[in-house]
Amino acid sequence: MIRTRFAPSPTGFLHIGGARTALFSWAYARRHAGCFVLRIEDTDLVRSTPEAVQAILDGMRWLGLSHDEGPFYQTQRMPRYRAVIEDMLAAGSAYHCYMTPDELERLREEQRSGGLKPRYDGRWRPEPGKTLPTPPAGGQPVVRFRNPTTGVVAWDDLVKGRIEIANSELDDLVIARADGTPTYNFCVVVDDWEMGITHVIRGDDHVNNTPRQINILRALGAQVPLYAHLSMILGDDGQKLSKRHGAVSVMQYDDDGYLPEAVLNYLGRLGWSHGDDEIFSMQQFCAWFDLDHITASAAQFNSEKLNWLNAHYLKRADTSRLATLVKPRLEARGVTVTAAPSLVAIIDLHKERVATLNELADLAQTFYIDPQPKAELLAKHLTPEALPLLADFVARLPDIPWEVAAIGALIKECVTRHGLKMPRLAMPVRVLLTGLEQTPAVDALIAVFPRETVLRRLAVAREATLSQASLL
Ligand code: GLU
Repeated sequence: MIRTRFAPSPTGFLHIGGARTALFSWAYARRHAGCFVLRIEDTDLVRSTPEAVQAILDGMRWLGLSHDEGPFYQTQRMPRYRAVIEDMLAAGSAYHCYMTPDELERLREEQRSGGLKPRYDGRWRPEPGKTLPTPPAGGQPVVRFRNPTTGVVAWDDLVKGRIEIANSELDDLVIARADGTPTYNFCVVVDDWEMGITHVIRGDDHVNNTPRQINILRALGAQVPLYAHLSMILGDDGQKLSKRHGAVSVMQYDDDGYLPEAVLNYLGRLGWSHGDDEIFSMQQFCAWFDLDHITASAAQFNSEKLNWLNAHYLKRADTSRLATLVKPRLEARGVTVTAAPSLVAIIDLHKERVATLNELADLAQTFYIDPQPKAELLAKHLTPEALPLLADFVARLPDIPWEVAAIGALIKECVTRHGLKMPRLAMPVRVLLTGLEQTPAVDALIAVFPRETVLRRLAVAREATLSQASLL
């Protein structure tokens, strides 16, 4: 049974890189009918916060990356880590080291000044026939892992290929501090072991930890999982992804008006491919996802492509669902969404034309709050030639059935009677109704508004233009 995990440290928000790691781990488990474990690595009490835990849970829920087991919190597993440390001390795979931080610093200084790489010198490491120093009275020891001194530790990384490190390069890692608290790498090892993780899929910032973790797992007699280290994600400009590039938190994408399915689809293609497929559902992704098609090189973020995908998913999304997503955005701006014009009708008219829910909200807003068309747009379209045509059209609006076909017929009839072209009427109507020059078909646009709103906007703005013209 395949068992994967996502093991974030709750020190900030769920960022895009973390979300991709979570997605890949989740999809791999789903693909193989396995188990996806969520583990919160909250042992860094200074940097971990409950808000960050919540941000991770919220982000995972928004993306729909459901876990099968957990969330497990490392802070709740302390007794277990301590028990394993005791076992290792008893088995001789770990030992007490009484070197004080000052002594360690002096040693490092000496090594550096002698041109050597600073490292622990093994003075408290038990060896056959070696006499250890006498523990200082009242000294609080740390616990160190007895790392092998010879040979290499190697693994076939499922993304990066074979990686080999000489054991002579590795120190005897501290696995418990003087106050008894276990260290980061040790907790990861115990958890991966006891949670039966078969595939560790994580960011390649952890490659350096892997040889140490493998050695400890071996000392525990644990099955060593397979490792897939994902390359990092670069920003649009090829630099390491950071706040500078805009949204890096997953929930920021929600705020910015992206649909979770678009973000998931986008992340799925970020460093993984299935032929030339760009658009796929999560069902397809879970059926296709494998570790063989992950690129070893860094993936570059491309905001344009995310926008393109979001536009695609907006087009196909159910309109009433979009209305429930747009409504709170309008309310947050202080816009009261009334029954008429219908938000669903507004969205139906516009969802093919936008890239984000926020753009949809921008457009919808003009239906609920009278726009203030720019003077230059009024001057451009409310020409002396267009005004009599517009006045004629407005005068006849009260008498027709309020539906697209009848409105369209009236528009045609008016422009024909005045011997003018369609845009002569359509453009001023667009500008007066919405403040914009580009809108969907003008008959459909008009039909979405209640009749009295159309009459008010066309009349009020027209009068304003006339008085403005007379002032000039
Ligand atoms: N907690 C680590 C992080 O957030 C991940 C550890 C792991 O995946 O092994 O970077």
